[in-house]
Amino acid sequence: MGKNHNGYFGEFGGRYAPEILTEALEELEATYQKLKNSKKFQKEYSYYLKNYVGRPSPLTYAERLTKNWGGAKVWLKREDLNHTGAHKINNAIGQALIARYMGKKRIIAETGAGQHGLATATVGAMFGLETVIYMGAVDVKRQNLNAKKIEMLGAKILPVTAGEATLKEATSEAMRDWALNVSTTHYIVGSAIGPHPFPTIVRDLQSVIGAEARSQFKKATKSLPDAVIACVGGGSNAIGMFHAFLKDKNVKIFGAEAGGLGPKPGEHSATITYGQTGFLHGTKTLIIQDKSGQIVPAHSVSAGLDYPGVGPEHAYLSKSGRVDYRMVTDEEALDSFLEVSRIEGIIPALETAHAFFIAKDIAKKLGKKKQIVICLSGRGDKDVTEVLRLLGEKK
Ligand SMILES: *Cc1c(COP(=O)(O)O)cnc(C)c1O
Repeated sequence: MGKNHNGYFGEFGGRYAPEILTEALEELEATYQKLKNSKKFQKEYSYYLKNYVGRPSPLTYAERLTKNWGGAKVWLKREDLNHTGAHKINNAIGQALIARYMGKKRIIAETGAGQHGLATATVGAMFGLETVIYMGAVDVKRQNLNAKKIEMLGAKILPVTAGEATLKEATSEAMRDWALNVSTTHYIVGSAIGPHPFPTIVRDLQSVIGAEARSQFKKATKSLPDAVIACVGGGSNAIGMFHAFLKDKNVKIFGAEAGGLGPKPGEHSATITYGQTGFLHGTKTLIIQDKSGQIVPAHSVSAGLDYPGVGPEHAYLSKSGRVDYRMVTDEEALDSFLEVSRIEGIIPALETAHAFFIAKDIAKKLGKKKQIVICLSGRGDKDVTEVLRLLGEKK
């Protein structure tokens, strides 16, 4: 375990991975440095974003939400309209291209809600790569439609039954696989987490979200938004959205993390609110842990936010005060899920519903003269069964 690497965001980040991964991480870093500045790679990446994913995604003015909330004008960055229904594909395509440049014939990934597994299985099929997806057994059940789609696309799902059988365990298993198969395999990490260079690569590949949103907003209004808002699991849609706005001092930035059932350990995934500095999956970041440093199981109604750590750049942006992170409970997210569906005609992912909940409060406080942009990270088709079950429980 070495500390003498780049990839720090303030005190967070770095590379704290097992020795066996050092060579693979260094190869990835070197390849990425080259590709990042390569016109050919950038052209290829843009080609697939446009012609396969359907970018640029629209920036939609949400007329009815604006009217109903009675405050700031509400704009939506529509990552739900991407092929496969979420922002995950932006990263999966980029990393599959990197894998191809490295001559790797096999890709693996972890998945929570199944959106990253779906995106990876999709690009695996499109590029003709053998694809294996690690998914917690609990998530295979609660995100069954995505699990079935992944298999239909020709990828193999390996359900993980250890521990809580959710995203953290799936990530650990994927890392283990990578360590054993580094010569043939690239691990497409699905969020802005993991050892350096993953948080940087994922952020760069997702920053198309904020770059597009910023220029679309400017074109439509001749100004910049007063606030941008995104939900934060590992933090990839959020960092992708935020990055273009970090230097715009007048743009307030907000992240919504999962407050789950309440403040007790084990009831939430509110890493920034309740976490402490520690090490998880090869990076130094904020983690939900007990007094002896043991990781406490995370909980969220949304499988994609159900992770006890957060990307190191978010830990840094929270410490520096640039981004204001707030918690949203399961119940509040569920309310927003239904509200946005009924008022705007868009069924959002349960993850995204967390962002909508804080957006409502922010819009009201800012007032009618201001404007906000919400990253609509994904569509909610995958959550319909789970939401119906939860509503049934409440009756
Ligand atoms: C995976 C997922 C998230 C959470 O992941 P981040 O890396 O924090 O973006 C949020 N929204 C949707 C729709 C997702 O699929």
